[in-house]
Amino acid sequence: MRGLLAFAALLVAVIAKESFEGHQVLRIIPKDDVQLSLIKEMEDMIHFELDFWRDVTGVATPVDVRVPFHSLQSVKIYLETQDIEYSIMIVDLQVMLDEEQEQMVSVARAPEPRNTDSFDYTNYHTISEIYSFQDMLVAENPNLVSKIVIGQSYEGRPLNVLKFSTGGTNRPAIWIDTGIHSREWVTQASGTWFAKKIVTDYGTDPALTAILNNMDIFLEIVTNPDGFYYTHNNNRMWRKTRKPNSGSSCVGVDPNRNWNTGFGLPGASSNPCSETYHGPKAESESEIKSIVDFVKSHGNMKAFISIHSYSQMLMYPYGYTRTPAKDQAELHSLAKKAITDLASLYGTRYTYGSLIDTIYQASGITIDWTYNQGIKYSYTFELRDTGRYGFILPANQIIPTSQETWLALMAIMDHTYKNPY
Ligand SMILES: [Zn+2]
Repeated sequence: MRGLLAFAALLVAVIAKESFEGHQVLRIIPKDDVQLSLIKEMEDMIHFELDFWRDVTGVATPVDVRVPFHSLQSVKIYLETQDIEYSIMIVDLQVMLDEEQEQMVSVARAPEPRNTDSFDYTNYHTISEIYSFQDMLVAENPNLVSKIVIGQSYEGRPLNVLKFSTGGTNRPAIWIDTGIHSREWVTQASGTWFAKKIVTDYGTDPALTAILNNMDIFLEIVTNPDGFYYTHNNNRMWRKTRKPNSGSSCVGVDPNRNWNTGFGLPGASSNPCSETYHGPKAESESEIKSIVDFVKSHGNMKAFISIHSYSQMLMYPYGYTRTPAKDQAELHSLAKKAITDLASLYGTRYTYGSLIDTIYQASGITIDWTYNQGIKYSYTFELRDTGRYGFILPANQIIPTSQETWLALMAIMDHTYKNPY
């Protein structure tokens, strides 16, 4: 019965959802500075309603952009007239979304998992499924896992953080968050897998056991719950929060431009309709302010890892300035170790470096704020892939992605434990 109800609910959701029929994702490669600025100008062509999946950065670096059906011809003519090279990465986005949805419907038909062993880690899940997973994990491991509610989202959803702790008071700690950008579904799925991995490996894996005997781990899986709910029920491509902006019909703030370090500098938008809108003021979003308050009141956070997708990158501060972080040498060599460990499993190749050198200038971002709070080991990941599927990574890649990322996380956590400061 529950399966049938869930199936019916999904059907209703499908009907109400925004369609991406005929939308294509183009990969554009600027060959010189002239082409680069021509592509940049496309960002301001509002009537095209373009959605940049990978932003304009530099010559020879691919730009991925979702083009609605109504602008396809104009955009292609624009590119061809300027002799700018492009390829069609996704021919019809809705076809891919339908496949993803079919897979989820088959999960909804299955019986509800009664424990975290029978939870289906090979598929994407709704927010309520992830929230009940968290409660099951806490119930099954009362001496290791607890749930802290650090605040609530704009729409009133709880901001749940799992705390993994073997005792002590206010031990040095590691923070991991996933899903701050809601459409990056492989991140919330990986976060769920990490939670199970931690309880499975504690007591059997010597490295993780040593870490947890001395430190706590905090894990926020659904960091932007309103956005995540919206990706499931209204618009799969939603990235921002869901708070309305006064004086604009556009909703939401980019939660990774809303932090109070370099806030409002180049590398964020002041336009509420932009995907990188920084918000009316720093920490305007409760999803961010709640983390800020928690980190400050905790006062003993030693590593902070914020997980995004896609592009296969591992980055450290800064994003808002070219001035190197004072720990750059150590952060760089640890990043190299982490991505080497990651690649050892399936050969997945990552680039790494400071954020501004690796992607682009970005201001008001998570890890710049955490680093300036004194959290030395501040890192951000961009998980799989490099653009074949982009945000619509097939569910059969969830476990491999989680497994390889875990090796990189372990490298960072182990180094943090062995290098107290
Ligand atoms: Zn992101």
